[in-house]
Amino acid sequence: MKRIYLDNNATTPIHHEVFEAMLPYLKDEFGNPSSIHWGGRNPRKAIDEGREKVARLINCDVSEIIFTSCGSEGDNLAIKGIAESKKDKGNHIITTKIEHPAVLGACKYLAKSGFDVTFLDVDSHGMLDLDQFRKAITPKTILITIMFANNETGVIFPIEEIGKIAKEHNITFHTDAVQGVGKVPIDVKKLTIDLLTLSGHKLYAPKGIGAVYVKRGVRLVPLIHGGHQERNRRGGTENTAGIVAIGKACEIAHRDMEAEVKQITALRDRLETGLMEKISHTRLNGHPTKRIPNTVNMSFEFAEGESILLNLDMKGIAASSGSACTSGTLEPSHVLVAMGVPIEASHSSVRFSLGRGNTIEDIDYVLEVLPPIVEKMRSMSPLYSVATGQAANISFSEGGG
Ligand code: PLP
Repeated sequence: MKRIYLDNNATTPIHHEVFEAMLPYLKDEFGNPSSIHWGGRNPRKAIDEGREKVARLINCDVSEIIFTSCGSEGDNLAIKGIAESKKDKGNHIITTKIEHPAVLGACKYLAKSGFDVTFLDVDSHGMLDLDQFRKAITPKTILITIMFANNETGVIFPIEEIGKIAKEHNITFHTDAVQGVGKVPIDVKKLTIDLLTLSGHKLYAPKGIGAVYVKRGVRLVPLIHGGHQERNRRGGTENTAGIVAIGKACEIAHRDMEAEVKQITALRDRLETGLMEKISHTRLNGHPTKRIPNTVNMSFEFAEGESILLNLDMKGIAASSGSACTSGTLEPSHVLVAMGVPIEASHSSVRFSLGRGNTIEDIDYVLEVLPPIVEKMRSMSPLYSVATGQAANISFSEGGG
């Protein structure tokens, strides 16, 4: 069976160059990078080079990169680390309702320990209202944590404007750029970002490695206390192979981004327009243009998202849905709920997130396979029959029941 992977926002395959680059550090170069003997020398050098490559991709200084174990750790470090270090100056934090659970969870945790958190709304396109954002700022605001691009819809927030406003008010600005880094150019200086989170497994490096950019001069309290690694900002023996891998992945992203953006955007647009043309009652969840190039989230009304996914899976296609089956109840995605997507439409949503490996043939295969899947489900839906005036036919054909 064909295997078509359209779930790159969940995780990406490891790039072959990344795999090759990290192998020596899983074998012969096993030394502890803090060791002063021969065993530590090459790992230390490899870490320095990895750091340089990550820094180059987002245009910061090497001393401004802290390696972590994943994006979730990075978000927690940035948010709790700033909250703790600035708690004498104020207790107000601004975020949005559509952040990743790593950010929402950290903010809710802080809210329980005395911080006051504003969760901003988004509009029906999943976009932030900058006026509402400005109005949320108070003299007690110490941290703004707003994502670069949303993992479910791909919508890109107006980060440059948010950065400017944060700077005008002298408030620390963190952005979770786990879904942005490697997909679109990001320059932390131009965007006046103070802290930024990224994660290796979203950019063709393995799981278990991430990084946080922390602008020079920004003080944050560590999450993990321990040794002197990462300039005392994150204790723990470094994941040398992971750091080499994320460095290589950033180098490749830097090298290939321009061509990739063009290629992936063209494929994504082919998928999006093709599905719109071939399947009626389809809605795009997200902004029509302000999106990362690889993501499209659509609702196929009167068909259930999880069932569509299972049917796609049977045809070898991997995608994901906007709802998660938790303890027997289908919870609609918090992102789609915040956008005001009707509950039925959020239950019928599917996210396709493309990646480097995808081809026109992959897209055309989805365009061939998905319409009959949706059609079959709708043929069993009484609501669809009512909506399209086919109720009489259905009761007639189902008469033998
Ligand atoms: N932030 C966003 C926007 C994400 O999409 C993810 C992962 O899906 C994370 C944070 C968490 O990253 P990790 O899986 O590396 O912990």
